[in-house]
Amino acid sequence: MPSKSAAHTGTTNYRMFIDGEWVSSSKNESFDVVNPATERRIASVPKASRDQTKEALEGAERAQPGWEDLSPLKRASFLIKTAQLIRRDKERLARTLTSEQGKPLFEARSEIDGAASNFEYYAEYARRIEGDVLPSDNARQTVMILKLPIGVVASITPWNFPSATVARKLAPALITGNAVVTKPSSNTPLSTIEMVRLMEEAGFPKGVVNVVTGSGSEVGDELVTNSITGLVTMTGSTEAGRTIMAHSSSHLPKLILELGGKAPFIVWHDADIPWALKCAIWARFWNCGQTCICSERMYVDEKIRDKFVPAFVRMAKELRLGDPLKANTDLGPMVSDQERKTSIDFVHKAEREGDKIIIGGEKPKSKNRGWYFEPTIIDDVKQGSPLVQDEIFGPVVPILEVDSFDKAIDHANDSKYGLASYVFTKDSTRVLKAMNRIRFGESYINQVGPEQLQGAHTGFRQSGLGAEGSRYGLECYTQLKTCYVDWNDKPSLPYLFPYGARK
Ligand code: NAD
Repeated sequence: MPSKSAAHTGTTNYRMFIDGEWVSSSKNESFDVVNPATERRIASVPKASRDQTKEALEGAERAQPGWEDLSPLKRASFLIKTAQLIRRDKERLARTLTSEQGKPLFEARSEIDGAASNFEYYAEYARRIEGDVLPSDNARQTVMILKLPIGVVASITPWNFPSATVARKLAPALITGNAVVTKPSSNTPLSTIEMVRLMEEAGFPKGVVNVVTGSGSEVGDELVTNSITGLVTMTGSTEAGRTIMAHSSSHLPKLILELGGKAPFIVWHDADIPWALKCAIWARFWNCGQTCICSERMYVDEKIRDKFVPAFVRMAKELRLGDPLKANTDLGPMVSDQERKTSIDFVHKAEREGDKIIIGGEKPKSKNRGWYFEPTIIDDVKQGSPLVQDEIFGPVVPILEVDSFDKAIDHANDSKYGLASYVFTKDSTRVLKAMNRIRFGESYINQVGPEQLQGAHTGFRQSGLGAEGSRYGLECYTQLKTCYVDWNDKPSLPYLFPYGARK
């Protein structure tokens, strides 16, 4: 049954969903959501108080035992219904996503499909939340390992994939019997609120799914530090992940942290070069460079450098920057003026230090509105440069020339990040070497992303903890429990002194 209150008041004032009710901010505070292409306000969203965040956690805590008691197949029916509703409303959701985030509509549609697929994929696990049955060391006993729900899951998400990242957390958390409170980024809360609205329509029991909106330092912090939370699943920057880890240490919830990246893109002379070029463009510039698995530094074999780099530059120049709602747009704006400024500052610093900017580096002159930023390519960059070592979440790519494949691998691994990597070569020995030696959670070999649901999305080093997607992602939302069961008619053990028989 849909709740009596509604997700909106008027058309643009959104609400939060707490314990089965759509509510405004108890402290009467809100924040604006702005369209990055027009710089116009499109909606107003409540700022939750700490008390409201607690109420959401308490509602989830009350609802969780009843949710856990349903059969997994019954729980799956709510996930399947959610997926159907997301697909029914795909166009509306994609337009909302583009309006708050700025990615071209074709990318937003694909993200909405991805969100629905997450619900379908994890619904399929209803019959496969498998434990283990093991032989005991003793006669007539059995050892069983169960996978139980953790309880209440706090989900905290970024702005770059505001539908897919939420679905990727909520679907496995819910199918395994947890209740959730989710908090979106304040840049892009509408996609999450719309998804939760569809989950309400799908009939999830009261309190099982909640959404609260507001800052990371207040609302996010309450979710992390409140001892009701049994697991924090967060996708975002390494810096915020570190703060969450520190602040949660007071009660030690489990943590899934999907953090920053600095993907290397290695292209060797024996690759299919025209294909590698197309992939290099997509891997760097999709979502205007704001994807955690985006290629962020290119290592080009010296043998092909003189042909590859000019061709790459030519193709980047051809990308069409513009209104993300229009069909012929390749690159929309960046999500916010602040994100654009961070990228510009990186480029200007590199310029001052003598790096060679081949194209871009500035706001496009043709646009007097919108947070657009030109594709930017910087050549002859040194391995130690911040352009190579720090995450740049925008359409900026440094190029480095390398003279051996082993050196390319060493340079790739020389990073605090370890999320995604790309390798283009047709040589099978090099492929196998890359698979075994590149220390990144994902390697795209002669292809690009996005990730697939059956793959584990995970990071080495400071790119995070735990995994998402695949059965490994599902397992992160469960608590292992071992049961030792005796089924002897007359049990006896040697070591129960003074009661057992001694040998
Ligand atoms: P962010 O770290 O600023 O924010 C992410 C979320 O964390 C937001 O909801 C924010 O409000 C919340 N948050 C921030 N500080 C918090 C705190 N102290 N306590 C609780 N919550 C807090 O990241 P962003 O700018 O929204 O997103 C971009 C970053 O996300 C990039 O670094 C990118 O690489 C990363 N990212 C990683 C993946 C991945 O799967 N590894 C996927 C997408 C994005």
